[in-house]
Amino acid sequence: MRKKFVFATNNAHKLEEVTAILKNKIELLSLNDINCHVDIPETADTLEGNALLKAQYIYENYQLDCFADDTGLEVEALNGAPGVYSARYAGDAHNAEANMKKLLHDLEGVENRKAQFRTVFALIIDGKKHLFEGIIKGEITKSRHGASGFGYDPIFIPEGYTQTFAEMGNELKNKISHRALGVNKLCKFLQTIQ
Ligand code: IMP
Repeated sequence: MRKKFVFATNNAHKLEEVTAILKNKIELLSLNDINCHVDIPETADTLEGNALLKAQYIYENYQLDCFADDTGLEVEALNGAPGVYSARYAGDAHNAEANMKKLLHDLEGVENRKAQFRTVFALIIDGKKHLFEGIIKGEITKSRHGASGFGYDPIFIPEGYTQTFAEMGNELKNKISHRALGVNKLCKFLQTIQ
């Protein structure tokens, strides 16, 4: 199995999670490791499109095998919003506190709290593109709980659990999360091609 890939993210939390999920099955190079210090534009209107934009940028500029992810929180009562716009839900500042505050406000008085995290990983290996999806269903709480994780973790309880991602801690989150599901599919694929 090919062992070395760039994970095209500037998000330290994602890098930490994916490193923990992979348990040394793959050697990861961060953008820092390859001296890439740009904020790769995420201008597509789908998760698939944005994940591909990030991976393609690395492949075209560095000719290295790589993958990238893009994630959205899809809320049923909001017809799938904030979805691909999750990072900018409360404005361009990409502020997690403001995003959660807006989401809780938009769901005030709404009984249907169903939501899902959806992640798409785009892998480019030998110039060929492959997509892998990870979805975890759950619900949005009425207030924030917990301090671990990042982003919307304090207001999302995965189905079958009673704690938010931010309360359960990284070890359990990394076993069941959308990101774990996507990364594990990517790993399985790599095992099939060599
Ligand atoms: P992106 O994939 O970095 O564009 O993330 C989109 C938005 O979803 C950002 O606001 C992230 O903070 C948030 N996000 C991404 N992954 C997670 C996660 O695992 N838990 C909670 N929020 C997340």
